[in-house]
Formats: sequence, structure tokens, C-alpha cells
Amino acid sequence: MPDSHQSDGYQLVETRLQQTLDNGDVVCNLCLWRCRLRHGQRGFCQAHVNRNGRLYNLSYGIISAIEVESIRNKPVYHYRPDSRVMSIGSYGCNFRCKGCHNLEISWGVDALDRLARGQSTDAWVRPEQIIETALKHGVDGIAFTYSEPAVWLEYVLDVSKLAQAAGLFTVYVSNSFVTDEALEVMAPYIDVLCSDIKSLSAAFYHDICPVSTVEQVLGSISKAAELGIHVETRTNVIPTRNDDPAELLRIAEWIRDNLGADSPWHVTRFFPAYKLSHLPATDTNLVEQVAAAARDIGLEHVYAHTDISCDCATENAPVSDWLELDAEALDAVNRCSASCCGDEGILVKKFEREAGLLPD
Ligand code: SF4
Ligand code: SF4
Repeated sequence: MPDSHQSDGYQLVETRLQQTLDNGDVVCNLCLWRCRLRHGQRGFCQAHVNRNGRLYNLSYGIISAIEVESIRNKPVYHYRPDSRVMSIGSYGCNFRCKGCHNLEISWGVDALDRLARGQSTDAWVRPEQIIETALKHGVDGIAFTYSEPAVWLEYVLDVSKLAQAAGLFTVYVSNSFVTDEALEVMAPYIDVLCSDIKSLSAAFYHDICPVSTVEQVLGSISKAAELGIHVETRTNVIPTRNDDPAELLRIAEWIRDNLGADSPWHVTRFFPAYKLSHLPATDTNLVEQVAAAARDIGLEHVYAHTDISCDCATENAPVSDWLELDAEALDAVNRCSASCCGDEGILVKKFEREAGLLPD
């Protein structure tokens, strides 16, 4: 496995945390789904595919959204609080939250399918271009956000290594359904983890990701802290779903007892979206009451956000506003530049057909 991936055009990139079984199935060890995939199959996130016993990432270098903003928007308040970051994201998520704000970016099922068919014209950006752009805009760090960075790990790593060399810090905004192996690979290059603790209810997590448990998510956050990453946590309070004050206080207790009384906790409001469009926005008073109660039990840095929600993508910020890509590059169809992909520009469908997963 090369340390970084150099290519002049869009290409599928082999992932590093994978295990090939004797029968040719591949286990992906990037996130805690640990998908076991047959030849031609894609993982739950849709961003990885098994081709002939090796696992590839479809979204390497594909940027769905980009923005320059304050680190406080992430929200991160206790790491370089006056700094600005360039936020970037791609497609693909390992959760299916019913109140997710921009499914086109975060789940990205259609976008990933277009990539798989060799029909995507999304921006393809080399890691070096991200760093050049960040430096040009004078930001202090890069934030990987909008969808789940774990399902884009090869690119996150390559950009992070270059960022570190250029004196930029890195922020990883995550749902923390991530393997210890992935965190260990990332830890030397990631400065800040801003993680959701969505709930302490097994039913809540089961609803958005049937294989997940609360313990796994909390374990992953603890692991990141043990690895020396600066951790801040966030809970987006959703009316009738996770707004029981007693349960919210238990989240505060967990943070105090496991991450430390000085560990920052951000409490944000839900705003209606997708399958939860029928719910009201969270009452501002509740957010403030929860924050006050958390301070009362000894959590020192609790922030009630009445103006922001979770950090998952809310809009498809125009990539060309920030990146100096010529129009031709932005209109180009992303067909794999590796010779193995071949015929008719078709990337993955060919392999899915071979595997009998599609009609002829
Ligand atoms: S990143 Fe997670 S969801 Fe995607 S293929 Fe790997 S284990 Fe499955
Ligand atoms: S809300 Fe965040 S974690 Fe949930 S599906 Fe959307 S992008 Fe993924």
C-alpha cells in the first residue's frame, strides 16, 4: 500500500484497512459496519467496492462541498478558537439519520452511483490542490465534515499529511462509528475530533444504524481521546426522539466521567428535515436548560447553541467558488484513469454485472 496516492485523474483507490478472505470476500475495517463484501458488491456507505478480492474507494478526491469558516461553526471552541478552517466533504455516510439535512451530499447514493457508472462530473481535486487552496485563502486548518470522514479515509489521510507538513491543523467531524484501527491510522495526523453523541438510547442508534450500539460509539470517542486527539462532543436535541432531560444529563455525566470535567460539550437545536420534517425545531429554552443542568453536575464547558444544528451538510456549497479549477476540469466526466477499468468508461457496474448482481 503506497503512503499516498498520486494520479493525474480520477481513479479508484485501494483502501488500507481491509482483509481478503479465502473465498475472495473482503472485510472493510474502516468503520464498525465491517462490511463483508463479495466481488462486485458495495458497502453500506456505497463508497467502497470489492473488485476481484480487493477493496477500493470510489470517492477519493471527489469533493461534494467546500466552505471557509470559523472553527467555532464545527462547533469547536477549545482548540485555536479564533482560527478559520477550510471545510471539505465528499459523499457517503455509514448512518441513515432520519433528520439528515442534505441527503444528496451526506448519503450521496446517487452521486456515488454516477461515479460507479463513470458518469460523474463532480469536482475531482488532488490533495495538493486542497492545501494550495487552503493556503491561498489564509485558513489555519482543514476540517473534514458534512458526511462521515471514515468512509473517505484514504483521501482524508493524504490531505492531512500534506496539511501537517504545511503547518495547517486538521479537524475530523464524525459520528464516531469508526474502528480503533482507523483511529490509530489517523491519530498522528488529526488534531481535533468533534464527535456526535446522538443519544444514550440503544433504540435511537438502532434506528439510524441497525448494527450500531451506544457502547461502540462511546468507546470510539474514548479511544480518540486516549490517542491524544483533542475531543469535543456535540448532541443535537431532537424533539420526541432524544429530548428527555434525564437522558441528556446522563450524556453530560458520561463526558464528565470519561473525557473529563473540562471536556467541551455542545448542545445544538434540531431543525426539521427529511423524514423528521413534521417535528418542530427544538425549543431554545430546552437547549439552555440542558446546558445549565450539565454545568450544575460539574461539566465545566457546556455550550448551548441556539443558532446551529448538527454539522452534517446543509447545502451544496459551490466547489468552484473556492477552487481554481478550469471549467473544462469541472465538466469532465470522472472515468477511472487506471487501465484496468476499461471498457466504455464503466467502472463498477462492469464488476457488478460480472458478479451477477445486475441484469445483463
Ligand atoms: S466504510 Fe463502513 S459502511 Fe463503508 S464499506 Fe467500509 S465498513 Fe462498510
Ligand atoms: S446526520 Fe450526519 S451521521 Fe446522520 S446520516 Fe446525515 S451525515 Fe450521516
